[in-house]
Amino acid sequence: MEKYLSLHFERSTPLGLEEARAQGRYATAETVLRQKAPDEVIEEVKAANLRGRGGAWFPAGVKWSFMPKEPQGPSYLVVNADEGEPGTFKDRQLMEKNPHLLLEGILLASYAIRAHTAYLYIRGEYLASYRALVQAVKEAREARLLGPNLFGTDFHLEVVIHRGAGAYICGEETALLNSLEGRRGEPRPKPPFPAVYGAFGRPTTVNNVETLANVPFILERGARWFRDLGAPTAPGHLLFGLSGPVRRPGVYELPTGTTARELVEEHGGGLIGGKALKAFVPGGASTGFLPADALDVEMDPETLRERGTMLGTGGIIVIPDDVRIVDAARVFSRFFRHETCGQCSPCREGAAWSDRVLARFARGEGHRDDFDLIEDIARGSTRRTICVFPEAFAGPMLSAIRHFRDEFESGVAAPDNPTSVAHQEA
Ligand code: SF4
Repeated sequence: MEKYLSLHFERSTPLGLEEARAQGRYATAETVLRQKAPDEVIEEVKAANLRGRGGAWFPAGVKWSFMPKEPQGPSYLVVNADEGEPGTFKDRQLMEKNPHLLLEGILLASYAIRAHTAYLYIRGEYLASYRALVQAVKEAREARLLGPNLFGTDFHLEVVIHRGAGAYICGEETALLNSLEGRRGEPRPKPPFPAVYGAFGRPTTVNNVETLANVPFILERGARWFRDLGAPTAPGHLLFGLSGPVRRPGVYELPTGTTARELVEEHGGGLIGGKALKAFVPGGASTGFLPADALDVEMDPETLRERGTMLGTGGIIVIPDDVRIVDAARVFSRFFRHETCGQCSPCREGAAWSDRVLARFARGEGHRDDFDLIEDIARGSTRRTICVFPEAFAGPMLSAIRHFRDEFESGVAAPDNPTSVAHQEA
């Protein structure tokens, strides 16, 4: 399989401009800006069916087509580089190892949506990524690959890098826009959507880093080439993250639709110390748990949705059989309790209650009616709030109980439960 996204991931330093140009970077941007109209770029990306790699899998070309064709004032591209989903660390590789690939994607996307400023909102903790991008932007400006009259055309672009301050919720695109503007990083009610009222009240497209890194290849090699890769409903390669106690954790570029088994056993080398697999999380913490017998599932958005979960960001977390699922779920619930922005009471209270109830089960002090309480919390908080954060904390909790109910049963307090942890320890 020919890789195209992860070619330089083995490097210890970012690929500089000279080397990047020797590899063909910016040649596609030059051809496109000189020869294609913005709408032709949008049509090509639509035809490729490039779907957003930030977790929502919305078609990028369709998103671009929502932007005004004859803007009366500025439009913006905002790059979501606030990679904060636990289990997800692939955008970081792109930014640290191949920043000019991202810049070329930004250039092409900005041209397509008629934006002349691109804001790159980067996770505050990603210092190495930030430094690599600052250097890459400097190199590109000096080489006149950013700035006025690019490639002899009248198109101009500036890239502004903005560091976040460590809030998970700023990965939600409207919270990110608020934060970019200097406001609290809280999601905005929608509509209006960012294409109508985005950064600084102007039409804005928000795209993920990996999504944009695919764009130069699609425009160089064509939509048909891209559509022939991976799962038909979500074509292309994906940067899968693999973490947990596997022999070779890391980021793997593979076609969408690759099975979780291939990732864990073939690429990850299986679990360390001969441990058995108990469960795995398919696409970052918010996607919930699947049991080990689901390992042959194809990793594409539609197949995983049919299994009651999501592909999310493609970050697989492996859970070995010596870890209690209730403890793994508690790690996530504590995280989500901390990261709710608190605007909506069903989310703020629901995240805190979920964590309290899971903590009870983990201590062996669960109540028999806590199973109903968890269902109530999930039902009462999802689809009633400004953003989908409650789905993120409800999914792991519900899937943990659905697939591993016996472990929760043993977390019900003694003495009414002879299988309880507390009873056995007494
Ligand atoms: Fe904030 Fe939660 Fe409401 Fe989203 S759902 S806006 S995270 S309180």
